[in-house]
Amino acid sequence: MDTYCVFGHPIEHSKSPWIHARFAQLTGQALAYRKILAPIDGFATSLQTFQAQGGKGCNVTLPFKTEAAALATRCSPRVSLAQACNTLKFDGQEILGDNTDGLGLVNDLVHNASCNLQGKSLLLIGAGGAAAGVLGPLLCEKPRCIVVVNRTLDKAVRMVNRHAALALAEGVDCQAFDLQHEILHSQAFDVVINASSSSLHQGELPVPSSVLSRHGMACDLMYGPASQRFMDWASSHGAEPRDGLGMLVEQAAESFQLWRGVRPPTAPVLAELRALLAQS
Ligand code: NDP
Repeated sequence: MDTYCVFGHPIEHSKSPWIHARFAQLTGQALAYRKILAPIDGFATSLQTFQAQGGKGCNVTLPFKTEAAALATRCSPRVSLAQACNTLKFDGQEILGDNTDGLGLVNDLVHNASCNLQGKSLLLIGAGGAAAGVLGPLLCEKPRCIVVVNRTLDKAVRMVNRHAALALAEGVDCQAFDLQHEILHSQAFDVVINASSSSLHQGELPVPSSVLSRHGMACDLMYGPASQRFMDWASSHGAEPRDGLGMLVEQAAESFQLWRGVRPPTAPVLAELRALLAQS
């Protein structure tokens, strides 16, 4: 049976084995998918071992996404822009690297949440691996503008500069600011995306409520109880809250399609996963 896995550290929390098992059942594909805890300084060795044992491909999560991009022998343009890779496919001695995080977010917003991004104003909070993975696919939806804000300005500037040619080609005004910039007090956005790990640390909300639009969308890439504070904050200011669970399922579907050439249905899997998490 073809085998796949997700590497991370920690990895116990990962829902990917459950999601891929459901995709396999629903598409009639015979595959096994497990989680592997790679040592912090041992991702390359763990990957090599898995490949040598006949593994067909893998997902990669924190903190190995940058290292995965470096280990891939051939990368998609999305990986080059993001400098991070969440999906590897083994093809003989070749390791193909892709980043499906951004496609996952866009599919969730556009198809599951019916939030068309074309012509909209977007605020992207964060400039870490997740933000880098979603910026390119967000630009490809041709919003009017994307404002990227991050605690460390320099990281946001470098990320936006890396995407400058794509922003120009798509006709999107894309700028970077820090979290103290006055634009956060003077402009409301159609769509606010929290790609920072503020919810993970349960700290202060990273931006003031003045960024939220009534009936706009506010999405935290976090999911589960940790995203509740952001979601409550968004809905208390009239915005439509969304967590990152849909993105998680949609990015997995993109990986599954890359490996198996088959598109799994995501709506039933997302509904089941949401129900499962609500029970636990
Ligand atoms: P990284 O560690 O790569 O980046 C963290 C980012 O958050 C940085 O921009 C950092 O700023 C910022 N940050 C950290 N703490 C705070 C804070 N208290 N206030 C404001 N900004 C803060 O993490 P990732 O980018 O990989 O992950 C970010 C989030 O996205 C996590 O919650 C993760 O769970 C989620 N995620 C969800 C996915 C899904 O499928 N739903 C997929 C991938 C990630 P600085 O640069 O200044 O350090």
